Amino acid sequence: MSPKRRRFGVLALQGDFREHLAALRACEVEGVPVRLASELEAVDGLILPGGESTTMIRLMEPALDAAIRRRAHAGMPVLGTCAGMILMASLVEDGRPDQQPLDLMDITVRRNAYGRQVDSFEATVDVPLLGGPGPAVFIRAPRVTTHGDSVEVLAELGSEPVALRQGNRVALAFHPELTSDRRWHQYVLSLDGEKR
Ligand code: GLN
Repeated sequence: MSPKRRRFGVLALQGDFREHLAALRACEVEGVPVRLASELEAVDGLILPGGESTTMIRLMEPALDAAIRRRAHAGMPVLGTCAGMILMASLVEDGRPDQQPLDLMDITVRRNAYGRQVDSFEATVDVPLLGGPGPAVFIRAPRVTTHGDSVEVLAELGSEPVALRQGNRVALAFHPELTSDRRWHQYVLSLDGEKR
């Protein structure tokens, strides 16, 4: 898959945005840290990293929140990993009362929903779309409790969806940026964007 996007943003308010920037470099794409709405203007797509979703939402200026929603719904490719998946949800169970997700996908997620013994683990996840299994690192991962009909499940762990797509938006419960498997980044980079 050859990348169509050349300047891809990574939300850089908190979390493992540096790993995503490195993953983009490995895909020979310029990664741009995004903290302000004005910085989103310069990019063709956006990654919402892993970290702490409540902190990211608290640190996000309202103009950036609005710009992400507007562009994502216009077709801008977005990849959310772990906390990023929580940000993309329409509803968050067990979130903080003031935790208002960006509502980019028709999914409901429950934060920190894997039990304490297994709150961090690595698994192999089969992804037919990407040509076969790959490594997936789960760290206090969210569980997808419901998803709408327009949401496609790309990968499951057991019988639970852990990778989902709606249009150009892709949400993963795990962290591909913490492995050397770059296929998720390549996939999102290969998606057509909005007309600008
Ligand atoms: N549990 C975190 C949250 O609620 C997500 C953890 C992660 O991104 N690894 O935001």
